Amino acid sequence: MTEEELLAAGYRKYYGEDINAFFNQSICQHSGNCFRGNGNVFNLKNRPWIKVDEASPDEVSRVIDTCPSGALKYIRK
Ligand code: SF4
Repeated sequence: MTEEELLAAGYRKYYGEDINAFFNQSICQHSGNCFRGNGNVFNLKNRPWIKVDEASPDEVSRVIDTCPSGALKYIRK
């Protein structure tokens, strides 16, 4: 999906230097794969709760690929 399609589908954008993350709360199944996968990037206590630049783009994409619902997406720059 393009960024425009993700935003139109209700995803919120989280900026990173080399990769952007997108999250759609209404799709999330609360599996916890994201914050168990990398608690520095995905931490519900943080605001925003996704801090993309706390890990490498490869690590961010690796964790997002484990999201079972499709609530998390990414677009590399
Ligand atoms: S991995 Fe995906 S479905 Fe699971 S809690 Fe995180 S965003 Fe939600």
